[in-house]
Amino acid sequence: MIEKIYDAVDKALEEHVLLGFPYTDQRGRILYHSTKLGCQWTGNVQGDPVEAFIDYGRWLAKCDGCGNLEYVTPSDPIFFCHGCGNLTNNRAARPVIFPEDEERQAIEAALLERGVTPGLAIGPIDQMRFSAPDVPDLLRSWQPGETKEVLQEQATAMTASFKAAQAPALEPGKTVDEKVNP
Ligand SMILES: [Zn+2]
Repeated sequence: MIEKIYDAVDKALEEHVLLGFPYTDQRGRILYHSTKLGCQWTGNVQGDPVEAFIDYGRWLAKCDGCGNLEYVTPSDPIFFCHGCGNLTNNRAARPVIFPEDEERQAIEAALLERGVTPGLAIGPIDQMRFSAPDVPDLLRSWQPGETKEVLQEQATAMTASFKAAQAPALEPGKTVDEKVNP
């Protein structure tokens, strides 16, 4: 079972272990990938911040220049796009906005209550990326502005309507045979 919301450090560690890449943190990961792509990070962090969000159990942020998504981490909130190399930001990384720690932990805990079935992949992060929610559309996803309470209300409402839709088949004492046989 997947027990956490994954972030860029988890991604770095997974790439380190599975692919043998030489880094174990966000800065090493950014430097490695940006150098490999020919758009090396300067090491600076500046410019307009980007907002973190959670998609299928993973902390991500979106590049407003090219639309690319990258893993981010609250433990080192910097963003560098491996698609466009932050060219319009002079190849500096950008700050990332996360919820305050207490709020972030409450959001993560609310999402982790949502059951998912891991997808077929070698690493746990891709298993989460390809996961299927136990209640349809009740994803481990979060957008800025959604509180823990909003997430819990979503879960309650969607779980209730899912159970209601299942109810006829689960009605005690009745079987499909009884309904169709004379
Ligand atoms: Zn980009």
